Amino acid sequence: MKIISNPHELNNYVKTLDKTIGFVPTMGALHEGHISLIKEARKNNEFVVVSIFVNPTQFSKDEDLDKYPRKDEADKKICELSGVDVLFFPNAEDIYGDDEVSLLAPNVRGYVLEGHTRPTHFNGVLTVVNKLLNIVKPTRAYFGKKDAQQLNLITLMVKQLFMNVEIVPIDTKRDSDGLALSSRNVYLSKEQRKEALKIPGSLNLASNLIAKKVLDTKEIQEKMLDYLSPLEVFYVEILDREFNKVENVEIGNTIILVEVKVGETRLLDNIWL
Ligand code: AMP
Repeated sequence: MKIISNPHELNNYVKTLDKTIGFVPTMGALHEGHISLIKEARKNNEFVVVSIFVNPTQFSKDEDLDKYPRKDEADKKICELSGVDVLFFPNAEDIYGDDEVSLLAPNVRGYVLEGHTRPTHFNGVLTVVNKLLNIVKPTRAYFGKKDAQQLNLITLMVKQLFMNVEIVPIDTKRDSDGLALSSRNVYLSKEQRKEALKIPGSLNLASNLIAKKVLDTKEIQEKMLDYLSPLEVFYVEILDREFNKVENVEIGNTIILVEVKVGETRLLDNIWL
């Protein structure tokens, strides 16, 4: 496995390849969720690039940029064992200069849900993903459904900016207790982790209601909020796949999204129905 930190070097390197390229952008502290994206990229492409970059522009001032977990050596091992061809490991200065051009998230879809409490977050995400896709020039790029709003906005960016890459969504990997894997789970104490299980629990509750033909989204949302209490809930939303509010669940076109704060940690989860 080759490790490259200079964007120009990587850009020149991939230009010499006459191969399909699968790309997995990450912020490191890799877990089985990331590995499932890498495996999918490995299966369907001749060449695999993974990036590890803790992107400063998607964190707001009061967020955990400095505390964000870093496991560089373990991550390199994981990439090597997963059959990655190139690990792109830039520094912030390799990616950003002064007086930068940047992208703005769309006015509606970028500022609801996670974008409501973190208004600059998706500008940072879209700007960095745009840069990374331009550097790597992949055939396909892999993103987790766990970050459903991110996936939705990146898909929109690629379409609206006429970018030549296929965005591939990948299902959420969970721990044996049902909690969605996340690099941020390491922040949770034993007690907080127990509380966090209410998140997948609330999504199970919703699935069970829907299986019993309760399709009214207000009713499902209220029952989920009751179940999640007393956790600090940022949102429980039931939307169609285009992220519009809906009155009734429509199987095949609905996502139920939850974001909760446990201690100081924001945790996201969702189910696609
Ligand atoms: P991150 O390092 O948290 O920025 O995540 C990098 C990529 O991995 C994103 O596309 C995430 O949606 C995806 N991802 C994170 N957690 C999971 C998970 N538990 N299952 C599947 N994909 C995930």
